[in-house]
Amino acid sequence: MTAGRYYAEQVETLGRSDLNALIDERVRYTIRYANEHSPFYRHWLKENRIDYTDIRGHEDLLHLPICSGKTIREHQPPVTSDFRFLSADLHDIFTIHETSGTSGTPKSFFLTWEDWKRYAEKYARSFVSQGFGPGDRVVVCASYGMNVGANTMTLAAKNIGMTVIPIGKCDFATRVLSSYRPTAIVGSVFKLLRLARKIALEGLRPQDTSVERLVAGGESFADESRAYLAQLWGRPVFNTYGSTEGTMCGECTASSGLHVPEDLVHLDIYDPQMKAFVPDGECGRGVLTTLLPVGGKAGTLLINYDTEDTTVVLSRERCACGRTHMRIINPAREAETFWALGTAINRIDVEAAVFQVESMQDLTGEYEAFLYDGKSRGDVVMRVGLECSGPAPTDRRDIEDRFVARFLKYKRDLARHYEDGTFAITFTFAGPSGLELHTLKGRPKRLIDRRPG
Ligand SMILES: [Zn+2]
Repeated sequence: MTAGRYYAEQVETLGRSDLNALIDERVRYTIRYANEHSPFYRHWLKENRIDYTDIRGHEDLLHLPICSGKTIREHQPPVTSDFRFLSADLHDIFTIHETSGTSGTPKSFFLTWEDWKRYAEKYARSFVSQGFGPGDRVVVCASYGMNVGANTMTLAAKNIGMTVIPIGKCDFATRVLSSYRPTAIVGSVFKLLRLARKIALEGLRPQDTSVERLVAGGESFADESRAYLAQLWGRPVFNTYGSTEGTMCGECTASSGLHVPEDLVHLDIYDPQMKAFVPDGECGRGVLTTLLPVGGKAGTLLINYDTEDTTVVLSRERCACGRTHMRIINPAREAETFWALGTAINRIDVEAAVFQVESMQDLTGEYEAFLYDGKSRGDVVMRVGLECSGPAPTDRRDIEDRFVARFLKYKRDLARHYEDGTFAITFTFAGPSGLELHTLKGRPKRLIDRRPG
């Protein structure tokens, strides 16, 4: 069945000046709504001596302070007696969510039914932009728990006319593939890699399944791991970046960045000091602001909220797909960045180095890396653990060399430290399920800093 090209054509193809005018109108309404309905924002505006009527458009958001996950936690129980970010009457709240807090108290999010519809709309636009349409059967391999993602994706599917197979978090039996003949799977890169291996173990080929496309999300990944996944399945893999905070950006079939639904969420990219916007094309911290349509209601509003993810605006020009909404690169988690000898190392840098085409004959793609102090003061050692698909590979050295070459490719300073021995990379090769991370519960941390202090 041919899918519709757009979910909301009029707004998705709006010219830049009309789109900016719509954004500015919604910024004004959102700030006014926040001032009227959220105890936190009312106090915040007052405290910062800001008259909300002075915020006339998205450029003015620069004059407002930045909020973070910490700000939310500091304004909810147990720290305060009530939920100060709550911006609607409790009677109007449809669901309550929490983000899986890696540190301490989870953040609470309150959603009205309107919020649900907007979240679903963002996912629906993304799905349609990836070629989905009525008649698609989608396996959702994402958590149906306190996270918003899987649930609102399911509502999006209803609106498009798709069938959902709500597997949830767990691994699924390959019989699901033969019984229901799904046309797509939504999951993390590593879940989809594992599934491909499972299928292969049963003597089948992923290419021979009914699956037509894969949607990867839930965590950031390297282009290299996505390319490998696409090759393994012989299917396109689209990226979706969603969060309980309400981002939901998706890659379209043109695969040239993730479209940000600019009429529903505003994304600014800040410099490391969080003082100014960086120009398009430069990497910075993503700061988001919920945009409410005039007259709309929201249970939790975020204004100038630090996503703690870094990204780059690729373009605000019309995409090959026809959409005008801006495109960003796959955001990377700032929490997965560590510094070594003046160079930032993100988990994605490690992942890119693992997924070298020739290395993948021996590797499963599962990896972990640890940073340690070296023998001399100030030296750093990165120990990389790689999982092999079978017995120990004979070309270990080649895998190591490819890793080092890719890892240091864009890190000239660190490459110099590697040359003079102040930065070292060591490798361990493990058999199936032999990595340390397999002994841990929950989402594994793949880059861990084990340097004291
Ligand atoms: Zn596009």
